[in-house]
Amino acid sequence: MNNNEILLRVENLKVWFEIRKTIISQPLYVKAVDGVNFELKKGETISLVGESGSGKTTLGRTILRLYEPTDGKIFFEDKDITNLPFKELNWYRRETGFVQQDPFGALAPHFTVYRILEEPLIINKIGTPESRKEMIIKALEEVKLTPVSDFINKYPHMLSGGQMQRVVIARALIMKPKLIIADEPVSMLDASVRIEILDLLRDIQRNHNMSLIYITHDLATVRSFSDWIFIMYAGNLVERAKTDKLLNNPLHPYTKALLSAIPDPDPTNRFKLREVPPGEPPNLINPPEGCRFHPRCSFAMEICKKEEPREINVAKDHWVKCWLYKEG
Ligand code: SF4
Repeated sequence: MNNNEILLRVENLKVWFEIRKTIISQPLYVKAVDGVNFELKKGETISLVGESGSGKTTLGRTILRLYEPTDGKIFFEDKDITNLPFKELNWYRRETGFVQQDPFGALAPHFTVYRILEEPLIINKIGTPESRKEMIIKALEEVKLTPVSDFINKYPHMLSGGQMQRVVIARALIMKPKLIIADEPVSMLDASVRIEILDLLRDIQRNHNMSLIYITHDLATVRSFSDWIFIMYAGNLVERAKTDKLLNNPLHPYTKALLSAIPDPDPTNRFKLREVPPGEPPNLINPPEGCRFHPRCSFAMEICKKEEPREINVAKDHWVKCWLYKEG
């Protein structure tokens, strides 16, 4: 692999949150992300899929350095950004964009759309007032808030949820980042606008050849969206593969339980969710010994209860963390 093509590299990343019952008690740790490895090339999209509490949002926010890593490394274009001090992260903030789940909370209520989009340009000392106005108009056109004059002077409360999320996307886009992380970007929106917003994100990613990490609990939305699918369970990536490989040949019992290739009457949505396996995801303060999925796994063997499987490369572009498989 040409190393120059790799935009983001994550090595053995751990994010543990300390909690204490009392000031004098021993600390306990919520192991939200516990040893994650992957690479993302320029222009590629990863869909990061998992149940609520699996650690996917923590992983996304840590890559953006909104949470501090406990251990491991994060490289962006081969530069180690894991422990860069806050004041040295300005360039990284420009190279990365964040689309969060809740557009209502993401936009300053007392700013107009114009001010919301101009703010990052001013902070980063980009352009003159005239050139900034041009950039804002272009960004609004790109997220299809047109005619622009109908939106540019509005406040967030005057917009629908879908329109607000378009403003959030325009704000992420205006700095021309190389990487956007979109965390459940449509889960709080009406079903009627979800597909439109996902199509918009995909078009923007392709038009600008950006890399995208799309975080979701909904496997049904990822097929047309991603080059890669990563399945996350209890702080670990339990399976990661190119999209077609994962959907056509899922290996991990958790992935298999999440996904079923039952044809849907809608030809654009051939994959449906199956019921998730019975039981709850484990408590991440005290996860089960061995494979974290073993209490819910119908294939569990003795070794699964004692030893944690390591991630193995079962085929080209396909990794799994399960005792049922061998390298290659
Ligand atoms: Fe199931 Fe064992 Fe594989 Fe875990 S390692 S998913 S318990 S078979």
